[in-house]
Amino acid sequence: MTALRDQWGRSIEYLRISVTDRCNFRCVYCMPMEGLQWLPKAEILSYEEITEVVRQLAPLGLRRLRITGGEPTIRPDLETLVRQLKAVPGIEDIALSTNGARLPQMARSLREAGLDRVNMSADSLRPERIAAIARRNVGFDPVEAAMAAEAAGLAPIKVNVVVLRGTNDDEVGDFARLTIDRPWHVRFIELMPVGDLRELTWEHVVPSEEVLQRISAIGALVPDSGPARGNGPAKYYRLPGAAGTVGVITPMTHTYCGSCNRVRLTADGRLRTCLYGDHEVNLRDPLRRGEPLEPLFRQALADKPKEHALLQMQVGGLRALSQVGG
Ligand code: SAM
Ligand code: SF4
Repeated sequence: MTALRDQWGRSIEYLRISVTDRCNFRCVYCMPMEGLQWLPKAEILSYEEITEVVRQLAPLGLRRLRITGGEPTIRPDLETLVRQLKAVPGIEDIALSTNGARLPQMARSLREAGLDRVNMSADSLRPERIAAIARRNVGFDPVEAAMAAEAAGLAPIKVNVVVLRGTNDDEVGDFARLTIDRPWHVRFIELMPVGDLRELTWEHVVPSEEVLQRISAIGALVPDSGPARGNGPAKYYRLPGAAGTVGVITPMTHTYCGSCNRVRLTADGRLRTCLYGDHEVNLRDPLRRGEPLEPLFRQALADKPKEHALLQMQVGGLRALSQVGG
């Protein structure tokens, strides 16, 4: 069987799997406070169904997985899914994206189940601000959560900060300083105006050049190759003598579609070949009918768009990242 390639020649070896559309947070840039329709349970892929999708994709070249959501740690018994995915021949790397609130309790059991590493979102180090951005007061300390992940062996640990002008951009330096002592990779993400959250617009985006400038006030930044096993588009730098790195992810000011190596599986079993737009293929119903998925993958990849339209601000067709597995 030939490896998975899209019509632009990009080989696809990375699948992001959303296991739920629900979340215990309501981050200002991600989920509206109300009005979201949760998927009925029957429409959500079971752990067995997710594993079967991966089992059928692995022979086509799929190697790396990321479990995401919504908030994946609120789906019961996530360890079972990790264990099943880890057993699929060909799968080399399983990562988790989480808001971190449950990491102190779950880091060890997830590691034991076979999870390789975590990306944790954290937009502030100040309790009242964390609650204001997440719009939930879950009494969560991001540094404690990342320490728990590190202690469990879920390295390299990446911490993702969405920078919002006027809300948390004054904490860029505090986050960057964490990398001096800890071997963490703190990545600053440019805000994307998605879904119905249109009140967050370009004026709230802090371009990564500005973020790097602010960090340079702490010490000279040297470009770094970043953590091994990275799948993504971040650019990394290191502060003098630092144990970890800082990185920037720039969906708004630069496009990296040319090196896009990923596809997404939504919680209800749709394959999305691009984060934006409405390119979706229903895998769930054919899977439930016992039909082979390979022809559908191939067709979906043949249709994978060359690049997204976000830069032109053609934002129609966007869904909140919590729904598509950001
Ligand atoms: N709940 C998990 C978490 O927060 O990490 C996983 C899902 S979340 C949708 C995945 C990532 O998308 C997080 O790092 C989050 O900060 C990012 N994200 C969500 N909405 C975004 C937006 N409008 N702009 C930039 N990043 C966004
Ligand atoms: Fe939940 Fe993650 Fe979205 Fe925040 S970014 S609302 S934690 S899914």
